[in-house]
Amino acid sequence: MKAALIVIGNEILIGDTVDTNAAYLGKKLSHIGVEVVFKSTVPDKVEDIKESFKTALNRAKIVIIVGGLGPTRDDVTREAVSDLLKKKLKFHRRLFRNIESFFQKRGVEIPSISIKQAFLPAGAKELKNTVGTAPGFLLKYRNKLIIVLPGPPREMKPMFEKIIPTLEEKLRNSPIVIRKILRTYGIGESSIEEGLNDIKNTREFEIGFQAHPGYVDIKLCARARNKNLANKIISKFESKIFKRFKNYIFSRKDENLEEIVGNYLRKKGQTLSIAESCSGGLISNLITNIPGASDYFKCSVISYSNEMKRKILNVPAKFLKKYGAVSSSVAGRMAEEIRTLTNTDIGLGITGIAGPSGGTKNKPVGLVYIALSTHKGTTVEKFNFYGERTQIKEKVALTAFSLLLKYFLSR
Ligand code: AMP
Ligand code: MG
Repeated sequence: MKAALIVIGNEILIGDTVDTNAAYLGKKLSHIGVEVVFKSTVPDKVEDIKESFKTALNRAKIVIIVGGLGPTRDDVTREAVSDLLKKKLKFHRRLFRNIESFFQKRGVEIPSISIKQAFLPAGAKELKNTVGTAPGFLLKYRNKLIIVLPGPPREMKPMFEKIIPTLEEKLRNSPIVIRKILRTYGIGESSIEEGLNDIKNTREFEIGFQAHPGYVDIKLCARARNKNLANKIISKFESKIFKRFKNYIFSRKDENLEEIVGNYLRKKGQTLSIAESCSGGLISNLITNIPGASDYFKCSVISYSNEMKRKILNVPAKFLKKYGAVSSSVAGRMAEEIRTLTNTDIGLGITGIAGPSGGTKNKPVGLVYIALSTHKGTTVEKFNFYGERTQIKEKVALTAFSLLLKYFLSR
């Protein structure tokens, strides 16, 4: 079954807000087997919304519209939907009371502009907003399902979660798209492509690729009349591909590298500490995003200055002077020192230049050394990353996890 997304808001078009809603919805929809075939971002203007809405209705059975349900003059989604479908806006006393009590609980009277949030197009079913004042709504129009959600992600997400069972019900015995990820390490996407060139993409089955710093995803996608058939197609190709690349595939689901590394650490009963410099704590942040990380993660030091590299990590001053803070020797020393200081099995040391300034001819922006120290010794790898400062930090973090993964896979 196909879905179309319409994201509404001037703030998204001018870049003040990053559209995380479409990413969230795209992922959730593809997870249950809905195929998103169209997405459009439009300004807070009735005519623009209607135009996109018309296209969306032509393209898909499910149309999801997000944003523009607030109380202010630029929130016009209700009007646009009502206009296009010729379903008059109707006042709902119960919705009005809910909005009124939302404000009463905060000790204020309902602002007059908020009254418009108690109106829904005729025939629409309210989707309760458990967080804010803007109710969403669901409308059946001909054989289409129209879902209208508020823009704030913390209001939109719980509302959407509640509709998933309705969508799953609608999907039963309908055409479905099933996806599967095979996550590989230690092989490039072109080598994988070469090894798969006898498997052609068809309407029924497609292979795609996504390269990340440190790993490559093989993405399988099957289209069929129903879930059972789609699953059969995926399984058939998955086992064929797995046989060819079993030495490289380390995960068969969409799990984060830090999660996979965390599982290895736990399984092997090993502990980790990290000395970060240019990554500014990002690696430690990602690892502690995983519940239960305290089982294996002991300590992190963000030794950003040379002085702290010396004082906390005992990196010899002569090292810093001779090789510079961004060097293989300093990275190695950071990894060794944090490991002994905190008494862990593994120590990571990271030093580099995230930019945009600070680069030189010999040490350009993006130069990063990542060291891994264990009782067996210390290895340091050198990288030249491209991108903006925050992108470089992200690449550093992913690569650090991929080095940990390599360590576990090679044992
Ligand atoms: P709304 O009043 O429903 O149009 O949305 C209000 C707020 O929700 C906006 O100011 C944004 O901060 C946030 N928002 C709206 N659309 C999105 C989106 N697609 N992704 C992330 N945040 C959004
Ligand atoms: Mg808006």
